[in-house]
Amino acid sequence: MAFNIPQGWKAVIGLEIHAQLATQSKMFSSDSTQFGSMDNQNVSPVSLGMPGALPVINKKAVEYSVKAGLALGCKIRDSSVFARKHYFYPDLAKGYQISQYDLPICYDGTIEFLVDGKKKQVNIQRAHMEEDAGKSIHDGAQSLINYNRSSVPLLEIVSGPDMTLPAEAAEYTRTIRSILQYLEVCDGNLEEGSLRCDCNVSVMKDSETEFRTRVEIKNINSFRFIEKAIEFEILRQIDVYEDGGKIVQETRLFDSAKNKTFSMRGKEEAKDYRYFRDPDLLPVKLDETWIANIKKNLPELPIQKAKRFQDEFGLPEYDALVLTQDKKMADYFEAVVDKCKHPKPASNWIMGELLRSLNEEKLEFDQNPISADNLADLVSSIEDQTISGKMGKTVFIEMWKTKKSPKVIIADQGMSQITDPTTVEKVVLEVIKANPGQVEQYKSGKNKLFGFFVGQVMKVSQGQANPDLVNEMLKKHLDS
Ligand code: ADP
Ligand code: MG
Repeated sequence: MAFNIPQGWKAVIGLEIHAQLATQSKMFSSDSTQFGSMDNQNVSPVSLGMPGALPVINKKAVEYSVKAGLALGCKIRDSSVFARKHYFYPDLAKGYQISQYDLPICYDGTIEFLVDGKKKQVNIQRAHMEEDAGKSIHDGAQSLINYNRSSVPLLEIVSGPDMTLPAEAAEYTRTIRSILQYLEVCDGNLEEGSLRCDCNVSVMKDSETEFRTRVEIKNINSFRFIEKAIEFEILRQIDVYEDGGKIVQETRLFDSAKNKTFSMRGKEEAKDYRYFRDPDLLPVKLDETWIANIKKNLPELPIQKAKRFQDEFGLPEYDALVLTQDKKMADYFEAVVDKCKHPKPASNWIMGELLRSLNEEKLEFDQNPISADNLADLVSSIEDQTISGKMGKTVFIEMWKTKKSPKVIIADQGMSQITDPTTVEKVVLEVIKANPGQVEQYKSGKNKLFGFFVGQVMKVSQGQANPDLVNEMLKKHLDS
């Protein structure tokens, strides 16, 4: 169901995405970043914030940040600076988080994506490096802390307040994830927390030009919840205003079971954090040729791949954009086409039946049970008329359930299309003989009955007669 914003109002949405950089070691120490390690195994004096321990910048994390920045169309600062952001929380051992503030490594970028077939452009205000905090676990009467995540490298990507619809926010996040995955700088796993999204939402009257107070919804971990949380928040804020109330700047959380956001705490302002440059770290000085070299070696990105799919395979822009959203899907498409040589039908099957089935079962693309090889064979069987398109759907369902190859399914179920003209003609003559009344009506001008005869032939042949031949033979015997 499409989301409708109440008349007279519009929403303003800006996103902060925290992407875990896929480095082996942490932002400022050699501790491992391995997910799923034993609690508090991946720590050292540096990530535990012991007095006197000194941070050392992870060069790989800087390289990954630059890669991401370039792919997001950002400018790269040749001298960026780390700052301390102070707040107290038990999972933050040092009492401050090392982040970047006024001089982030990447700034002023822009990305483009499709929402309901329409192009949307969003500015990237900045992307800065920072370290993650640990994790508190509240277990009945006791609270425990796991510092494994403490000081894991993050890139925080901050969008402009450029979105107006919940679906745009979800699509924006998908696009960012896709780009980071193409670059292999972040695995993009929302469930494991490698990609976390904070949504800033405010509403205003259509006629207004100044933004109203925003609320931040923290740590949403699925695309669907991004949409749901923002939808709820927009309607909640409008309700508050229409009742004469005020929105306070605060941080809220989304309860996916109740489909509601609720207040977590009042929102700090920059001045509350007492930002200052980290005296333990030198500025990150980047060499121009080093940046140029990274730029030169960027892999093919979603937009470029989409362009190539249009040029090389003659796909419509829409197909190309959808197929390249997910690198795994794009690779799969190329593997299918490589074998069957029918790009558009391959695209139709992937964007149609396959994506629909994946969505229905809430599966990620790499959980797809149908191999590229098998889908290619299915497409070929239809294109060379071994089976009809309609039978193809039945075969597809069977492939999905059993992972069997289409050749085996077609043979097992005796589905091959009848392409022998004499056999089809025999069935056509049988049908004509069995329905003299309809033949008479047809011949006296009731053209619509042609469809009836096609249906009968299909029925008698159990759907196996080749449709083109059926048409041809019916015309031959009815119209003569
Ligand atoms: P902080 O981390 O302190 O919340 P940031 O500058 O990192 O602040 O992020 C602010 C985010 O909020 C940006 O994505 C920005 O586009 C968005 N934003 C700013 N003003 C509004 C507003 N009035 N309504 C919705 N989003 C906003
Ligand atoms: Mg922020």
